[in-house]
Amino acid sequence: MASEYRQHDTSDVWHFCSNCSDWPTADFSREPDKPEGRALCSECQSKRDSDNCE
Ligand SMILES: [Zn+2]
Repeated sequence: MASEYRQHDTSDVWHFCSNCSDWPTADFSREPDKPEGRALCSECQSKRDSDNCE
């Protein structure tokens, strides 16, 4: 997993896999810890479940 959670400024979904196809690389917010009660990216969760989250 990535060392931080990222969210596009235009979205309310948080990503945590740097190999996610939608991983924010510009205009994003970051949090060091899992944002409680917030939506998580379904692709990131799928990658984590298949042990493919980088
Ligand atoms: Zn994602």
